[in-house]
Amino acid sequence: MKPPKRHKVKITVKEVTKGNCPLEMKPGDSWVYHRTVPEGICLAAFSTLIPAIRTFGAPGGKFSWPDGEEEKTESVRLSCPDPRHWVIYEVSRLR
Ligand SMILES: [Zn+2]
Repeated sequence: MKPPKRHKVKITVKEVTKGNCPLEMKPGDSWVYHRTVPEGICLAAFSTLIPAIRTFGAPGGKFSWPDGEEEKTESVRLSCPDPRHWVIYEVSRLR
């Protein structure tokens, strides 16, 4: 049996709420994930986005926080882990 087809996933910078990203990630920057790390994206941020990327790449995959609230079926916002700057990304399923 063939494995189910995976969705491509879109990654978008939504806002920068503190400081300036040293890699100059800015609102509106976006990438499409399809099997390999997209060129130019901050690796620290990407490492944090991986669980959401895998979730929304899987057909029917849902993302939820540890408290089980706010189950996300199409997209979620996550932050780059660098505490010196807060770059907020949205990871969404492409249909
Ligand atoms: Zn970053």
